[in-house]
Amino acid sequence: MTKHYDLIAIGGGSGGVSVAERAARYGARCAVVERGRLGGTCVNVGCVPKKVMWFGASIAHTLEDAAHYGFRTGERTFDWSALKASRDAYVKGINDWYHTYLSDSDIDEIVGTARFIDAGTIEVEGRQYSADHIVIASGGAPTVPDTPGAELGITSDGFFEIEQLPPRVAVVGSGYIAVELAGMLNALGSDVTMLLRREHLLRSFDAMLRENLTEEMFGDGIDILVRTQVKQVTREAESSLCIECENGQRLEGFDELIWAIGRYPLTRELNLQAAGVTKDEQGYIPTDKFQQTNIDNVYAIGDVTGRAQLTPVAIAAGRRLADRLFGGREDRHLAYENIATVVFSHPPIGTIGLTESMARDLHGEAVKVYQTRFTAMYNALTERKQKTAMKLVTVGAREKVVGCHVIGPGADEMLQGFAVAIRMGASKQDFDDTVAIHPTSAEELVTMR
Ligand SMILES: Cc1cc2nc3c(=O)[nH]c(=O)nc-3n(C[C@H](O)[C@H](O)[C@H](O)COP(=O)(O)OP(=O)(O)OC[C@H]3O[C@@H](n4cnc5c(N)ncnc54)[C@H](O)[C@@H]3O)c2cc1C
Repeated sequence: MTKHYDLIAIGGGSGGVSVAERAARYGARCAVVERGRLGGTCVNVGCVPKKVMWFGASIAHTLEDAAHYGFRTGERTFDWSALKASRDAYVKGINDWYHTYLSDSDIDEIVGTARFIDAGTIEVEGRQYSADHIVIASGGAPTVPDTPGAELGITSDGFFEIEQLPPRVAVVGSGYIAVELAGMLNALGSDVTMLLRREHLLRSFDAMLRENLTEEMFGDGIDILVRTQVKQVTREAESSLCIECENGQRLEGFDELIWAIGRYPLTRELNLQAAGVTKDEQGYIPTDKFQQTNIDNVYAIGDVTGRAQLTPVAIAAGRRLADRLFGGREDRHLAYENIATVVFSHPPIGTIGLTESMARDLHGEAVKVYQTRFTAMYNALTERKQKTAMKLVTVGAREKVVGCHVIGPGADEMLQGFAVAIRMGASKQDFDDTVAIHPTSAEELVTMR
């Protein structure tokens, strides 16, 4: 017999759990289908374990700096496997918490891979389930190219499986995941080479951010090879990978090669055609502003929609959808503009709104930019001189702030409050009228000339 629900979420990641949890609070009878570990990408192979590694890498930098603050720390050793064990235990705790949370919220957990039978019915492990509303929140997975020998490399998923610090690593890619993995590995002691197909790291970010980051990464000893496309990967000896590039370069002696070249949506196994749900050429599921697909009562949220692929975005879209479907809030939807984001590079980046070039394309002469670059007080004493750089992009006579871009220590924690101000339409004058907090780096954002 088919079991019927008010709402079924396909995927137990950030989006799926959030929509079901909010709907259940309104009294809806809900189920979440998950074939892997609850918590999805973020908890298991994304934000959470990544941030643990970033903290570890930041400690490595702090230890370097400690002597300049008078500490004598002796010989430095680092045990990757100990960090991994603690990290895995932390993630397992979150997985367990999710199981309890779902059952405490009266949400059924269905284990297995879901596929559509029709627009109101899915099948999991041979059993059928129907619902008034089905939400696709199946997320994505890392792309591996069809380059010969690609299988000798790993992806960000594999990075979290590594048991020992790899002495020499090649990271292929230029996006935020590539930058973060390269930075962490380098700080923890690997010799890192990045291979970029084109010219720049973080292509879609403000030029000021990518220029400063590139300089910092070079300064930290990361080799960045631009316009370098991998042609073939081979294994030379037991644990040594060789990379042949399209430009004739031959790079040898890598212990790991990490593909960080993008992600693809997990829609192939959903049998979407049975429900009549359309996807674009890349497999993403288009929706309207209410997360509605082309089929009534079938919705998509999170990474599978291809928009702003971030955990809080999947959560916010899911919660708003449930508010609309079960909470009587008819116009409730997520606005995708002005979403702040952080890159956990070394140093970190915080960014929101329009880049300078986007603003100039849209608003031409009406754009005015304020920027600054300085050495934070922390680095005044240290040998490692990280630079902090900030940019405010404003538009019009009122100088409405439409973009805020920061790179430097603390940028990750700095931006959230400024995101509130920018979302509320703050002007440069509002920034200037805010009394600074001294001595901080953030105060520069309210004192820029
Ligand atoms: C290395 C890395 C670092 C990241 N760092 C950050 C960060 O710092 N900050 C941030 O905001 N975001 C970060 N992200 C992005 C973030 O993880 C995603 O945006 C977020 O997890 C998307 O949530 P989701 O619910 O759409 O999909 P997911 O979390 O991917 O969940 C989808 C779930 O659906 C399941 N599934 C798929 N198909 C089926 C099926 N047919 N049947 C049953 N289950 C299925 C999958 O097993 C998965 O558990 C990072 C991602 C990566 C890879």
